Amino acid sequence: MSDQLGENTIDLAQVVQNSYHANAQLVLSALLSDYTEEEIAHCVSEAYGRKFDTSAVTPVTPLGHDWLLELFHGPTCAFKDVALQMLPQLMSVAREGDGRDVMIVTATSGDTGKAALEGFADVPGCGVTVFYPDGKVSDIQYLQMVCQEGSNVCVSGVRGTFDDAQTGVKRIFSDEALRGRLASRNTVLSSANSINVGRLVPQVTYYFDAYAQLVRRGVLTLGDPIDFCVPTGNFGDVLAGYFAKRLGLPVRKLIVASNSNKVLTDFITTGTYDRRRDFMKTISPSMDILVSSNLERLLYYLSDGDCAYISSLMGQLQDEGHYSVTPEILSQIQETFACGFATDAETKETIRATFEQDGVLIDTHTAVARTVLNRFPEDGTPRVCLSTASPYKFCSDVLDALGKDTTGMNDFACMDALEKASGTVAPKQLSSLRTAEKRHLGVCDISGMGAVVEDACTRIFARS
Ligand SMILES: *Cc1c(COP(=O)(O)O)cnc(C)c1O
Repeated sequence: MSDQLGENTIDLAQVVQNSYHANAQLVLSALLSDYTEEEIAHCVSEAYGRKFDTSAVTPVTPLGHDWLLELFHGPTCAFKDVALQMLPQLMSVAREGDGRDVMIVTATSGDTGKAALEGFADVPGCGVTVFYPDGKVSDIQYLQMVCQEGSNVCVSGVRGTFDDAQTGVKRIFSDEALRGRLASRNTVLSSANSINVGRLVPQVTYYFDAYAQLVRRGVLTLGDPIDFCVPTGNFGDVLAGYFAKRLGLPVRKLIVASNSNKVLTDFITTGTYDRRRDFMKTISPSMDILVSSNLERLLYYLSDGDCAYISSLMGQLQDEGHYSVTPEILSQIQETFACGFATDAETKETIRATFEQDGVLIDTHTAVARTVLNRFPEDGTPRVCLSTASPYKFCSDVLDALGKDTTGMNDFACMDALEKASGTVAPKQLSSLRTAEKRHLGVCDISGMGAVVEDACTRIFARS
């Protein structure tokens, strides 16, 4: 993909006439040259069909003077669905070439694992095993995982923390004996983490599609500039926006919004990336990240593919915890990227103000972005705030932001109270968990994780 970014452009006049599905076809075809048009069409229709609760897939709606790009209409009510509904389809087509079965193995702190389960469930030739830290995810996250349907899924708690579970998964990937036994049965292990390009490419689509929606609404004329503000953790989502710009979308600024873990704000301001600081636990947990793994990709493109330079920076980050880019690269970054951060208190205030003044209920991650966006003066260029999760995924903090007392309330009590307080309705994907059947109650020790994966492969890939 890397070589094609600079050469390919996407025909904006065409984009504006297209449905989301046709735009996904256009963008994926431009970036994934290994796939035929027919294969991509198949993947698009499988990925963005009945599992999204709107045919627009990622609708744009008004937000005061700005616009909200709603990325939470998929099966887990968060934006990772847009990529994780597509990635398994792409993998399934790719594996038809070599005929091997693929077992995805991942550890989750709560959200990504569920998105992976939904994406890989019942995809031919694939299985998925997800480990979560037992007792350390929210009520709703727990139910989302243990109630997962599908004949090729495996979910297990791990006695330990998220880091323990992640270490256990790394150990599985480096267990040569296990991999050998699986290989003899034509099975390979794979991860679905956010540095997989198959997760980035599908995200490029919604930047183009948002532009198309605003042209059709008469907010933009074809060719006009646009700004996007993106709540950022691993830098995947905002990097997809950069890809869209490189492919010809007239993006003026990409605003990188962080919470109190503001490593990226400091980096974009000064050119020095420094992870030597305390990790903060915030109300926007999917952005609680000190090492944004996709930033390396941006630096690669900005340095014209200078691998030696990039690996020296990454080496410094690993060994010393910090690095600084050249003034030339910093000025290139600042040409496209603006930045800012929001504290938890500011984020809550934005949730309250957005609801009271604009009548829109937003989640804690989206509210970080809106807080940052509000600090930039309006100058007539349309601005789109990316909305990465349904407010009902973070009921308790959203309710608290609206000034309601949440002491002693579980997730479902908060869900009821949030419906009452806001006059909105919780998405079915979440409210139906109350009565869903619990299917995966297993819990293992760190040392037992390999056996769980091996058993799952045996069960799922058994051939008659
Ligand atoms: C993952 C996530 C983010 C951050 O996205 P990155 O691609 O890691 O920058 C923001 N909001 C929500 C709700 C997320 O799940």
